[in-house]
Amino acid sequence: MKQLYIDFDGVILDTITYPYEYVGKSLGLEINSENMGKFYSELDWNQFLKKMPIINNSIECIERIIKSKQFEVSILTHVTTLDEAIEKVEYIRKYFKDITVIPVPRKISKTKMVYTEGAILIDDFAGNLEEWTEAGGIGIRFSTKLSSKGYPVIDYLDQILELELAV
Ligand SMILES: [Mg+2]
Repeated sequence: MKQLYIDFDGVILDTITYPYEYVGKSLGLEINSENMGKFYSELDWNQFLKKMPIINNSIECIERIIKSKQFEVSILTHVTTLDEAIEKVEYIRKYFKDITVIPVPRKISKTKMVYTEGAILIDDFAGNLEEWTEAGGIGIRFSTKLSSKGYPVIDYLDQILELELAV
């Protein structure tokens, strides 16, 4: 089976829209990595993950991908704090009893944590896809607006089952 890595933030759960609005509009701060990093590192991740919306039936889509037996599915997610890593693992565990979850320290490339050659990464961040494809992997962009940024693009995770290059 082909290895399939799925990003978490902005793919499974929308952990992006609310924080950006909160930091930018409510706090009136500039949206930059320093301010966003501060916000994310001070969060109560348990409560936060409960409140953020699931994107385009991502959980059901992952169930469908697993059932297809076409891919060995893992979740590959950048984290800023240990608390974030713990709560993301707990969150995924609520839905999937037996799936690999790999938290990646924010300052390390996802390509440095797993075997990339021929493996697929679904990610909403083009920077991650660029690193991934440079490391010999196959990058698939997730975008609810179907903005490709030069990669094959999907807006529902189970569309990976229909992509020619993925099988
Ligand atoms: Mg992401």
